[in-house]
Amino acid sequence: MPIYRCPKCGRTIELPEGKYYCKVCGPTAIMVKVDSIKEEIKKRIQSMLYKEWKEHEDYVIRELVKEGYPEPYVREALKEVVMETTGRPL
Ligand SMILES: [Zn+2]
Repeated sequence: MPIYRCPKCGRTIELPEGKYYCKVCGPTAIMVKVDSIKEEIKKRIQSMLYKEWKEHEDYVIRELVKEGYPEPYVREALKEVVMETTGRPL
């Protein structure tokens, strides 16, 4: 059975597939399926990582080029890592 979580108080409950509201917080608090919460968190993490990449892109390239790696390869590799961690290019 899926687990549902209250977005207001965080209470979780295991119930058959359906729509529920939180018994503590009332009908305005619609319980959210935990799976969807995890997907939502993943999207948040990806967008946080994206911001980090944006800020550190130049630094990463500069440091690796300083270490002697050819810039085109560094840029290519960075592009792939960014895609893997954020799902989109910088
Ligand atoms: Zn609640």
